[in-house]
Amino acid sequence: MKPYDLRLHDGRVVLPGTGLSEVDVCVRDGKIAAICAPSDELPAAETVDVTGRWVLPGAIDAHVHLGQDLSVPKTVEDAALETASAAAGGVTTMLAYLMSPQPYDELFPAARDLMAEHAHTDFGFHFCVVTPEHIENIGHYARDLGVSSFKVFTNFRGNEGAYLNLPGNDDSFLFDALQAAADSGAMIAQHAENIELVWRLRERLSKDPDAGLDAWHAVRPPYVEAEAEGRVAYLASVVGASSYAVHVTSREALSALERQRAEYPDVFVETCPHYLTLGIDSGLGSRGKVNPPLRTRDDREALWEAVADGRVDVIGSDHVPRHFSAKDKDLWSASAGFPGTGTLLPLLLSEGHFNRGIPVERLVDLTATRPAQLFGLWPRKGAIRIGADADFAVVDPNRPSTVAAATQHSGAAYSVWEGWESKVSVQHTILGGEFTVRDGAVQGPRGQFLARRNSGRAALAFGAKKEVPA
Ligand SMILES: [Zn+2]
Repeated sequence: MKPYDLRLHDGRVVLPGTGLSEVDVCVRDGKIAAICAPSDELPAAETVDVTGRWVLPGAIDAHVHLGQDLSVPKTVEDAALETASAAAGGVTTMLAYLMSPQPYDELFPAARDLMAEHAHTDFGFHFCVVTPEHIENIGHYARDLGVSSFKVFTNFRGNEGAYLNLPGNDDSFLFDALQAAADSGAMIAQHAENIELVWRLRERLSKDPDAGLDAWHAVRPPYVEAEAEGRVAYLASVVGASSYAVHVTSREALSALERQRAEYPDVFVETCPHYLTLGIDSGLGSRGKVNPPLRTRDDREALWEAVADGRVDVIGSDHVPRHFSAKDKDLWSASAGFPGTGTLLPLLLSEGHFNRGIPVERLVDLTATRPAQLFGLWPRKGAIRIGADADFAVVDPNRPSTVAAATQHSGAAYSVWEGWESKVSVQHTILGGEFTVRDGAVQGPRGQFLARRNSGRAALAFGAKKEVPA
């Protein structure tokens, strides 16, 4: 038999079901081809010593925005810098939201081709569904374009989405989108906030130019989020749809989703590193403005509990690559969101495992296995098993790293975690058996588009049938 292409030797490898295991992993033709004892004599063209390092399945960042206007990646930098940031943080696959009122048949080919030329990660897309025409095409998008997850903004009533060039909608629009997704084996990812309540609160609260993040939290409080999450998950149950609550921030929103999930199982929950690690007490000013807002310490504790016990399915970054000049304004005029794909895995391993004792394999489930299963990438992605893509994050748990915009690669050129120390560093990132990051240095682009026919319950059912990979 010809030698393997690559062997990762003497590391501690996260295997499904068994956690950190002292095995070697061998790669051939971009796939995981053998898992063996370190003493086994299996020849490989290249053997990389990873003694003392953790070998994790490459992270899947299921929540990314690209482009300075957040619509689609348009420039080489939009594709190259943000995926380089992701790769440097151990991400091997990103799912990015395309967001426009145009038909996606018009936007998709150029976005896909630009990414295929310049991305340092494999990639797929979600589409934001903002027009009736988008809803009519949900089945077509899933079948023919390989995009099977669709965001609906419950907060874009009236002119509320105009700043992103997006039309308003209402609950009948949401209902139609849920129905179309249910009919197509797709999933709706909802941005859940009751904007009518926000409008009322905005009227009452003064627009103090020196307002801080506590004011942002006060005009968009947890009950605004919780009410909308409960409503979407309930309506999804009426039509048999899968719903995915992106960026859940609060104890109340978690409870609202859990109440729905007790009655109907296809309710999936995502949170983001910033809701776990930052809050209105973090002294960030406008750079910490995000929708939904950063919350309180109590909300962070509730989210960590749900991360640890499995009530949260996925942790995605909600990466927003806009330059910091869009942020350094008063609270009310600063843009919302900030970059985070590069810090997703290092911060989570440090804060979750080292500071809170959450097992590494649980954090791998949240950042690789579960997103692969929910978004139609399983069993090709999401775990270290024979036949899967050879995608790895090789993490050094004995070498701390400090977050700095200068080493984050993102065009945003800042990080809300600037100066934070992670107890780990990402040494290598490997995509399809090739290094995208080697000893911390980003290598040439090699990402490929990932077509995903199903998401949500339909993807879970399909994935289960394919338990034995080809
Ligand atoms: Zn987002």
